[in-house]
Amino acid sequence: MNTFPKIYKKIEQYSTIILHRHTSPDPDALGSQAGLARSLRLKFPDKRILCAGENDEGDLAWINTMDEVTEADYKGALVITTDTGNTARISNKLYSKGDFLIKIDHHPDVEPYADLSFVDDEAPAASQIVADFLFEENLPVTAEVAYPLYAGIVGDTGRFMYPETSEHTFNVVAKLTATGININQIARNISDVTFAQAKLQAEVLEYMKVDPSGAAYAILTRDALEKLGVDSDQASCTVSTPGRIKDIIAWNVFVEKPDGTFRVHYRSKGPIINELAAQHDGGGHALASGANAKDMDEVKQIFAELVQVTKEYREKNE
Ligand code: AMP
Repeated sequence: MNTFPKIYKKIEQYSTIILHRHTSPDPDALGSQAGLARSLRLKFPDKRILCAGENDEGDLAWINTMDEVTEADYKGALVITTDTGNTARISNKLYSKGDFLIKIDHHPDVEPYADLSFVDDEAPAASQIVADFLFEENLPVTAEVAYPLYAGIVGDTGRFMYPETSEHTFNVVAKLTATGININQIARNISDVTFAQAKLQAEVLEYMKVDPSGAAYAILTRDALEKLGVDSDQASCTVSTPGRIKDIIAWNVFVEKPDGTFRVHYRSKGPIINELAAQHDGGGHALASGANAKDMDEVKQIFAELVQVTKEYREKNE
């Protein structure tokens, strides 16, 4: 159901609006949050519009940085989350202290946690949904609004490669680019890596293991990350690397965290992997998910499950 008019009415009603996004943010999390915040600030200069999160933007601070918020700010406030499917992943737990909660998202609605939602899990990016909202409700879309939204769409479509990318995506992007944003600079900011990150990508190619089914995995240990001076968020640049190889159709990248547990990335060109991720403290999209593993035993189990769904997928599709 199109709840945009209802969301707009709520925004009109509140004088403080606080926007949240997910932890370990990617360009879509930051872009959807920033694009909405900037447009609302232009339309409603008398309202307080704040971006909240745990100051974990890292290398993505070029998209947006967070405002200072305290619990007092949430009294009588409208809270809007973007790009965040479940409460466990909302960055900054103060979100629950507001008066009314709205969710704008493109993940499967596994936890309908808000008072009012707009969820379209076929949209390739939450930033595309935010852009739709701004255009449909005649809210301002200037270059400073379009910039983070375009970054979010480029990020979550894998530069317009993933299957959810549609004719509508290009129509939205055409309107965003018409504001005069520098799309070359945005694409470079998203794609360019440091030497150390490039070496980590090379390690993934060098040491990953490929099962005959077409499932593959790579483990990035604390030692490997420390040696190169790359932190676990910066290691995300390796996640799409195995997918460039024709024979690989689903893969895991396991990134060891400082406490010895693993952040798990799942990616796929066909086999559905979010149901697997959900069994390991995770979730996400059908072809791109994340999870957590407590130790090497769980790492092995996760990959065995991936091999299984990859085999089943090939049996059905060949
Ligand atoms: P990542 O591998 O971290 O880039 O995440 C891929 C997708 O899965 C993104 O849409 C994330 O929002 C989602 N995701 C990642 N980790 C989790 C998690 N622990 N729980 C639910 N969704 C996740």
